[in-house]
Amino acid sequence: MKFDQFIDEYQDAIITSTQELIRIKSTEEAAVGDYPFGEGVQKSLEYVLDLGKNLGFETKNVDNYAGYVEIGSGKEMVGVLAHLDVVPEGEGWTYPPYEGKVADGRIYGRGILDDKGPIIMTIYAMKAILDAGIPLNRRIRLILGTNEETNWQGIHYYLKHEEAPTMGFTPDADFPAIHGEKGIMNVLFEKELRENLNDGGVEVLSLSGGLRANMVPERAEATIKSTQAFGHILDAYNKQHAAKLSFDDLGDTTYKLISEGISAHGSTPEAGVNAIAHLLNFLDKLDLQIGDLSNFIRFYSRFIGLETNGESIGCGLEDQESGKLTFNPGVLKLADGKVGLEVNIRYPVTFKDFIVESGITSALDNPFDVTCRTLSHQGPIYMPKDHQLIKTLMGVYKRYTGDPSEPITIGGGTYARACDNVVAFGPLLPGRPELAHQKDEFMCISDFMLVTKIYATALYELAK
Ligand SMILES: [Zn+2]
Repeated sequence: MKFDQFIDEYQDAIITSTQELIRIKSTEEAAVGDYPFGEGVQKSLEYVLDLGKNLGFETKNVDNYAGYVEIGSGKEMVGVLAHLDVVPEGEGWTYPPYEGKVADGRIYGRGILDDKGPIIMTIYAMKAILDAGIPLNRRIRLILGTNEETNWQGIHYYLKHEEAPTMGFTPDADFPAIHGEKGIMNVLFEKELRENLNDGGVEVLSLSGGLRANMVPERAEATIKSTQAFGHILDAYNKQHAAKLSFDDLGDTTYKLISEGISAHGSTPEAGVNAIAHLLNFLDKLDLQIGDLSNFIRFYSRFIGLETNGESIGCGLEDQESGKLTFNPGVLKLADGKVGLEVNIRYPVTFKDFIVESGITSALDNPFDVTCRTLSHQGPIYMPKDHQLIKTLMGVYKRYTGDPSEPITIGGGTYARACDNVVAFGPLLPGRPELAHQKDEFMCISDFMLVTKIYATALYELAK
């Protein structure tokens, strides 16, 4: 394609712009004055709008909630939906997370994959199309969202006040094209604690675990009072399940139990080790006091256990298009006379949320008196593989990579859900490490350039 040569010529500028954008730490913060998501997000928005202006694009700041840069003319518009905010950097980076360090043919930095790198790729893809001077039938607009990592207020503000694209993609996931995203719900299992019989059994005084429902919890804790020795039960449990449970003796027959797991994204619970699940399943092995809290623990071990697909709790759904439902117990709390467990569920694309709910409700028809309610829900999206948008994106992807893979479905949620006729497309090529939200987030410069070319050609094909 003609664009490829232009993009190669821009390589230095592409790297510089990427570094400059990474250097603006754009984690979402509390509103300051007219900046609804804090100063970092604001500066990153202004940076990209200025870059677009300097390259000769139309630009608009949508009340600091969003923005866009645009080229071309025509009634219809092809949209690229991307986001400027990043998740916090965490610890353990080889290079500073907000430097944009180039080393070993890679660019390192928070947001290089998710989602600042793709913003720069799209801008230079648009620039190459502009330089080529080929007339288009549709405009091409890069829509800049601001708080995708939390509640999407920015993109919703944009869609309320500005034009929605006729079609488009969001460069915020994997290649090849993603034709389906599972439904996502957070549900809360809860039980009121009224009765507890002081019968000489082990008493559970406190329980806690996890940070967010959509992460596999890497730590959970309990304090128990026990006159019975339990070290051998714990050792046997660790051995049988390859778990990592330990305890501290706090004196006066009181012990702190610590369960260590391995974190993973909530959409792939099987990739982690759930610290909450191991803690509760181990507690179930003890001779607990009769009472409401023990019943909750029994409920957990009978209906959830170590499962990650919700079979025993009545929602083990599966379809051909997107595989199995995933079930991730993410947060455990004991407070105010209640025990609560927040679970992140991702259900297959051909189902509806009420089928998940009714499955769980019928499983809950049990003597344990545990309730369940839905806290939040985003429906699945699905586009047939032979849809013109998918066919066009797949055609361009194949032309550049030779990869014969079919379109895929994912459990993650992207801006593709925000409006019709948009699917996720890249930037992560197959076989590359999934480093979004992790330390040492990087992208190879050669991949970066290749994906920029894929985006340029895809945008041209959609807009011509
Ligand atoms: Zn993202």
